[in-house]
Amino acid sequence: MGWDYAAYEKALQKSFTLHKPDGVTEGNGPLQLTLHAAESPLEKAWIEGLKSLGFPVTDPLSGRLGGPNIAPESSDPRTKQRSGAANAYLDPTRSRLNLTVRPETTVTKVLLEKPSGDGKAVAKGVQIIAHDGSLQTVKARKEVIISASAIKSPRLLELSGVGGSELRQRLGVDVIVDNPFVGENLQNHLFIGLVFEVQDDVDTIDAFFRQEPDAVGAALQDYDSKGIGPLSTSNMALGNYVFGLAYAPFDAPSPNYRAPGKYVSVAIELSHPLSRGSVHTTSADGAKYAKTSEGVAIDFCYLSNPLDLDVLARQVRFTEDAITLAEPIARYLKPYTKSFEDLDVAKEYVRRTGDGAYHYTGTCSMMPRDLGGVVDNRLRIYGTCNLRVLDVSIILLAPTANPQAVVYAVAELGASFIKEDLQ
Ligand SMILES: Cc1cc2nc3c(=O)[nH]c(=O)nc-3n(C[C@H](O)[C@H](O)[C@H](O)COP(=O)(O)OP(=O)(O)OC[C@H]3O[C@@H](n4cnc5c(N)ncnc54)[C@H](O)[C@@H]3O)c2cc1C
Repeated sequence: MGWDYAAYEKALQKSFTLHKPDGVTEGNGPLQLTLHAAESPLEKAWIEGLKSLGFPVTDPLSGRLGGPNIAPESSDPRTKQRSGAANAYLDPTRSRLNLTVRPETTVTKVLLEKPSGDGKAVAKGVQIIAHDGSLQTVKARKEVIISASAIKSPRLLELSGVGGSELRQRLGVDVIVDNPFVGENLQNHLFIGLVFEVQDDVDTIDAFFRQEPDAVGAALQDYDSKGIGPLSTSNMALGNYVFGLAYAPFDAPSPNYRAPGKYVSVAIELSHPLSRGSVHTTSADGAKYAKTSEGVAIDFCYLSNPLDLDVLARQVRFTEDAITLAEPIARYLKPYTKSFEDLDVAKEYVRRTGDGAYHYTGTCSMMPRDLGGVVDNRLRIYGTCNLRVLDVSIILLAPTANPQAVVYAVAELGASFIKEDLQ
């Protein structure tokens, strides 16, 4: 089994149970997903509006996302609670005798030994700061697997001597595996958004977003008594955009600003950025910065490829056109004056308001070593025999949508490789 789409899809299916709006379930995986039907008139209007522009409704799990859809959310409709790696995967296995979870513990480096000659480096274990603050060593009998995220996995590798030849100069760390691609190829979904004021009689969740006591009280009551309302769902996503029934501060003086009134917001994400950034460690003090975002230099290089700017600016213009023209959604809006007919104005808006989602990928990419790879197709770090990375950082091209589902599939597939290899 390899990394083709069929294997990927099988791994993805293994990860979840999907609860459909009609009560039917699909799959038998640990992660619980809920698929809602469009409920509010605005959600329905958004779908109908995109349909009227020639974008038919798509199945969010089909891999083809050319039109509107409602994305499933990671929540269990039976408990109305979020479903995630901890309660779906970890909790059912906590009692296993071969599993030890060490909370409040930070890995500061992997202990790598390089044999003389051309042999591959061997991971002997890891150095940790235990929850009592003591520095300890945990020995590995077979393998060390790093799953510390697209920012922290390359950091851990560099602190362990896996990185570019300048590691010694930059961090005072001996280079054990020379690979300048560690921490490179960083991608993120850059997003921007447009906000449209809606008619006064349209229902939105603005009052709840503004934390108005009555709205918050009603939301709490709805959730506690019936498991419904804004606290019961994280889902505002529809189609290839994120469509939200409230004001989003895309162009506000502060991200905390909430405008008075009622709005719909459309977030536009650049699915496949061509710009590439990097993340590198700036301090060899693995202990000091292990739990913070300090000690790393992240260079996002957003919009460094001019096509990214062009695509986003054209999306802004298209979205403005679509929302204000497409019926039935247009009839819910207050009169709107278009701002982005001039592409240069749209570009300036993108440059000024664009922000990164937290969808980092690519910093320990799985690809051929000479093309920029850090791990091979069994997720082993090149130049080592028993050190792997298994997390979002191995994904070499940003997925179309938010990465979480891909991470679960990668984890399932990676786990099957590890089991095969250790047999
Ligand atoms: C605010 C926010 C919102 C997001 N929203 C969405 C969303 O709506 N949809 C979506 O698809 N994705 C979303 N994402 C992205 C998604 O969470 C990530 O892509 C995904 O969690 C990556 O999985 P991972 O296992 O690679 O890393 P993580 O989930 O970050 O797990 C890495 C773990 O390693 C631990 N760790 C790191 N360094 C060390 C160390 N030295 N020692 C010990 N432990 C260490 C961390 O504490 C963490 O628990 C969001 C991310 C953020 C930050």
